[in-house]
Amino acid sequence: MTHQGAQQPTLGIDIGGTKTHAILLSASGQVLAQRVRPTEVGTDGVIAAALAAADDCLGSTGLVRSDLACVGVGIPGQVDHRTGEVRTAVNLGIERLDLGARLSSEFGVPVSVDNDVKAAALGAAAHLGIGDLSYLNVGTGVAAATLAEGRLVRGPGNLAGEIGHIPVAPGGVRCVCGQLGCLEAVVGGGRIAARLAPLAPAVTLPTLVAAAAAGDPDAVAEAGVISAGIATAVQLLVLTQGSALVVLGGGVIHTCVGLVDLVRRELAARANGSDFLASVDLAGRVAELPSDYPVAAIGAAMVARADAEAAAPASLG
Ligand SMILES: [Zn+2]
Repeated sequence: MTHQGAQQPTLGIDIGGTKTHAILLSASGQVLAQRVRPTEVGTDGVIAAALAAADDCLGSTGLVRSDLACVGVGIPGQVDHRTGEVRTAVNLGIERLDLGARLSSEFGVPVSVDNDVKAAALGAAAHLGIGDLSYLNVGTGVAAATLAEGRLVRGPGNLAGEIGHIPVAPGGVRCVCGQLGCLEAVVGGGRIAARLAPLAPAVTLPTLVAAAAAGDPDAVAEAGVISAGIATAVQLLVLTQGSALVVLGGGVIHTCVGLVDLVRRELAARANGSDFLASVDLAGRVAELPSDYPVAAIGAAMVARADAEAAAPASLG
């Protein structure tokens, strides 16, 4: 069964706040098909959309659910990857859901579930071919996941990576978590949108960096705040985790054209006058993925692959 499973395709499902993206990977890692469906909220809605996206994917290649080796799912919220249980995925209307068990009874094959940012780190590693990296997601929320020697750094309760709740602006605005000046309160998408609203339509997130380059003082200030916040996150990840690369992703990164270069410039500026920082080359460790690379869905498939590989030696014994 293990040998046969090694030849069968793997399905990855990324359940996001608006879209559910299913991707079918061959045993050698080739994308056989991918389909996107609108996410539905609530426990039954989330499952219905995941199954619909999966069946679209399978149907387009003439396969059925039992042809799969395994299924991996990435989803926001607190995830117990050992049980497949999801808690407090607020944007999806989920308080508690046995997602792994529910989907595994539907698919009839093993289903692995992990947090979406942790899944994305695996997807980034698959694309870049390295096992020591951090993935920093800058979206509505801000979180990171780190792979060290190919393995996800988790800590009890999967706490590792909640970098959005490190205070980076002492005395700054209050964060949803109750602290003042958290990274998420500085560079989270919702907070940025609220600060930019009075500047529209002259300055918006897609045009922010260009407006700053043209000398608009409000844009200069805002672009400086955002790039400094993200630069600090990169610095934290590299200096605490030793990550060879920090891959930037998420809605803010994709929408704000030119932001990644600004982050690199900020990091290079910090290295001026510090032989130590210069030797670490923070700017050189900032990476981006092609915008059409489905990092979270590929990563979800990798979650299942990793579990299957971990289980294989035990099944031989
Ligand atoms: Zn916070």
